Amino acid sequence: MAKVNNWHLKRDMEYVYDEARPKKQWAIIFDLNKCIACQTCTLACKTTWTSGKGQEYMFWNNVETKPWGGYPLAWDLRVLEKLGRQDWAKNGTYAGKTIFEAAPPTERAVHFAPQDEDWMYPNIGEDDCQGLVEKGGHIGSLPHDKWFFYLPRTCAHCTYPACLAACPRKAIYKREEDGIVLIDQSRCKGYGECVRACPYKKSMYNPYTRVSEKCVGCYPAVEQGVQPQCVVNCIGKIRIMGFISPPAKARDDNPVDYLVHKKQLALPYYPQLGLEPNIYYIPPIHADRAYLHQMFGPQVDGAIERYKKLPEDPIAQGLLVLMGSSDKILHRFKVERGEAQGFDEQGNELVRVPVTEGVVERAAFDEKLGAPRNNTP
Ligand code: SF4
Ligand code: SF4
Repeated sequence: MAKVNNWHLKRDMEYVYDEARPKKQWAIIFDLNKCIACQTCTLACKTTWTSGKGQEYMFWNNVETKPWGGYPLAWDLRVLEKLGRQDWAKNGTYAGKTIFEAAPPTERAVHFAPQDEDWMYPNIGEDDCQGLVEKGGHIGSLPHDKWFFYLPRTCAHCTYPACLAACPRKAIYKREEDGIVLIDQSRCKGYGECVRACPYKKSMYNPYTRVSEKCVGCYPAVEQGVQPQCVVNCIGKIRIMGFISPPAKARDDNPVDYLVHKKQLALPYYPQLGLEPNIYYIPPIHADRAYLHQMFGPQVDGAIERYKKLPEDPIAQGLLVLMGSSDKILHRFKVERGEAQGFDEQGNELVRVPVTEGVVERAAFDEKLGAPRNNTP
C-alpha cells in the first residue's frame, strides 16, 4: 500500500496506488436545506443514461430520505458497521481506520455485496420522520426531535476511488483532465469487485451486458463547459457543479472552493471511509446533530452555525443565488452592488442575477382594462 494525503481526514492514509491528483477535479455541491425530493434529477439522469436493457433498476443519481432511506437498502449502515469505531481527534484529524486501512490482508477495502432485492424498492416507505408526531405538535426550536431530510447522491468521482482500487482488470480509470472516474466497458469482465468495494454503492452491474457501469459525471457536457444533467435540471436549484482545488490551492473566486474551503459551509459525506469523495453537502440545519456528526464529521456544527448567519454575508448569499442560474460551469464568481456574476474559465461573463429579487407592487385597479386586480398576499 502507498501513503497518500487525504485532506478530508487531515492526515496521510494507505491506498493501493500512489497519490495522483488530476489537473482539475469535478465536484458538485448540494444545499440539503433546499432539496424537495422531487426526483427531477433522478429522472433527468435516468432518461439520459440508463434507459437501456439491464439498466432498469439503475439510478446513477438517486435521492433518498434519511435516516430510513437507502439505495441499495441500508448501504451506509452496513459499511459503517463493518468499519467499526470512527473517532475524530480534537484537532479534526480522523483517528479511526478507513475502509482501505481496515481491510483484511487479502482484500483492498472493507466491502459488502448488496443482494438483487436490496436495489429493488428505492424510496418505498422511507418518508417517515424519526419518532411520532403528537397532535398539535409544531417545530418549536432547531434542531427539532422530529426530523428527516433528503439526500441526493451521485458517484463522488472520488480522489481515492474504492471501485478503481478493487478492479482486478484495471478497467477503471480517473481522468487527468477533470478527475471523472470511468469504467472502460471493453476491459471490464463483470467480476463485480467495484460494486462490492464502492462504499457509496455507485458502481452497478448490468446483467444484460454483463459488465459494470456507473455515473459518468456527464463528461460529454462537462467537456463543453456545461454542468451535468442532474444539476441543470434541479428544480430546487440546490446544486452547483464546478472544480475543487486542494486546500493549499483554493481560490476565493472559485464557487466550489469558496463554499468548501473559504466558508466551510459544504462538507464531504462519510469522509471517514477515506475516499476523499468529491460531492459536498451543506448540511440540513434541522436534523439530529449526532446523526449529522456521523455523516459529515466534526465540522458539521460550524457549518450549520455559519449557514444560519448567511443573511449577514452578501457574498455567500450571492453565490447561493448563482446555484441553478446557468447551465454553464461557473469557474469564477463575483458579488457586487447587489448582483452576483458567474464567469467561464476565460473570464467571460456567463450569468448575472440580483442577490435579492425586486418586488413590484401592481395597482389594485387596471386603468387601461378598467378592471380590478386581485393582489395575492
Ligand atoms: S463513489 Fe464509488 S463508484 Fe464513484 S468513484 Fe467513488 S468508489 Fe468509485
Ligand atoms: S431535482 Fe433538486 S430538489 Fe429535486 S430531488 Fe433532485 S436535488 Fe432535490
